[in-house]
Amino acid sequence: MNNYIWSDEAFNHAKECYPQECCGLILDIEGTHTYWKCKNISGLYKEKSFVIDPIDYANGEDQGEVLGIVHSHPDGEMGFSYTDRLSCKYLDIPFYLVEPDSQSIIVLYPSEVND
Ligand SMILES: [Zn+2]
Repeated sequence: MNNYIWSDEAFNHAKECYPQECCGLILDIEGTHTYWKCKNISGLYKEKSFVIDPIDYANGEDQGEVLGIVHSHPDGEMGFSYTDRLSCKYLDIPFYLVEPDSQSIIVLYPSEVND
């Protein structure tokens, strides 16, 4: 699995979930950064928000260390929303935003969020 790149999995997942937001985890599984698909169980608008299924999260944690939380913005907006920033700070974990069309990724660290 030397050629495995977690972002390819994340881009594919974002395409599968379109027009809803995808969400997932980056796990360190025995040294390999692995994308872990999660269900978006947001009860509001899955096109505009995401809530990771806690069962998927817990199963991921059983596999390896959680290095970050990934989601997509189906409208292509490459910027973290206010809610994203608050969640990043609150969960104290890096947030990654992926955009499959341009294959771009941006990251937000909790230390960058000032409230
Ligand atoms: Zn977002």
